[in-house]
Amino acid sequence: MAGLSDRVRALVRPEIAALSPYDPNFTPCDINLSANENTYGMPEEVRRAIDEAIARSQTNRYPDPMSNELRDLIAAWRGVARENVCVGNGGDELLFNFFLAFGGPGKTLVDCPPTFTVYDIYSGMLGTQVVRCWRDDETFELDMPRLLEAARTADMVMVTSPNNPTGNVISRDDAERLCEACPGIVMIDEAYIEFCEEGVSCEPLLASCDNLIILHTFSKAFCLAGVRVGYVLAAPDVIEALGAVRQPYTADVFAQATAQTVVSMRERFVPTIKTIRSERERLSRDLAAIGGVRVWPSQGNFILVRMQQAGIVRARLRDQYSILVRDFSQAPGLDDCLRVTVGTPAENDRLVQAVASILKEVA
Ligand SMILES: *Cc1c(COP(=O)(O)O)cnc(C)c1O
Repeated sequence: MAGLSDRVRALVRPEIAALSPYDPNFTPCDINLSANENTYGMPEEVRRAIDEAIARSQTNRYPDPMSNELRDLIAAWRGVARENVCVGNGGDELLFNFFLAFGGPGKTLVDCPPTFTVYDIYSGMLGTQVVRCWRDDETFELDMPRLLEAARTADMVMVTSPNNPTGNVISRDDAERLCEACPGIVMIDEAYIEFCEEGVSCEPLLASCDNLIILHTFSKAFCLAGVRVGYVLAAPDVIEALGAVRQPYTADVFAQATAQTVVSMRERFVPTIKTIRSERERLSRDLAAIGGVRVWPSQGNFILVRMQQAGIVRARLRDQYSILVRDFSQAPGLDDCLRVTVGTPAENDRLVQAVASILKEVA
């Protein structure tokens, strides 16, 4: 994507001048393992129920601005009250609103790279200063002593658990200490929480930590990346602040109807989520068995791998095998790393075979 023209660069806010539109680096391929979607697709009965719910939706009327019916369903599911829930147009919008409400000039965010780069982009856009607390360069575990120290003077702290793209989680005890240390707001981005073992979510801390925000999305486990719905859980006054900066009709009637159906039928997703977890373990083993491939343990629906010539491997996967994975080989701290989404058994088999063949040629 080209940068801004000189003419426009002179006109925009200074924070925007260095930016260009987000480019997920997407090429159409037979097998797309690049964006951590649920590649198994929507369960058929859920899809039918969604179609019926959409058919009943009235398009001439504005949607319920706060998505209260959906909030109530989410609240009942997560064991909180409506006042603890805010719905957004995907998790990304909720992240943006978090920075809009709590960040800005004079505010600092602590984040823990290598991680999701959207935090950096939104911080920059809104003039928030970022303090980077780098993860261990071998294990990608959090540096808790440094993080706690940095949190003591931070307005905002962001921890991704499981972390995208490395797969690490934060323990509940560490998250609690972080909330205690930070005078500002701590967000735990749990976009991939459904793929974790029981007991990993920091949600139970909401009862005691009133400066904690938990982010969840329907884009990953629940097959709604194309529809754009996510939600946060937090104390009512924190939700009020997010509600105040929120564009009122951001969740449209189709999105609300679709997400309500998915929440009501959430049990239908359990079998594929289980399969994705077991495929994650199998794919990790199979990739690690290829000589020269390092695999990090992951609690998400993706795996971080390192190999020589990763950039070339990624290009050959795309051009010769029509398999798309995400290239992190040039990203700070992630030299020669690729991130692969856990797909169906057939997709995973093709990926493993292709990587093995390519590495035989380039190694
Ligand atoms: C995918 C993702 C999100 C949110 O995605 P949406 O599609 O906008 O809901 C948030 N955080 C992380 C770390 C992600 O990977």
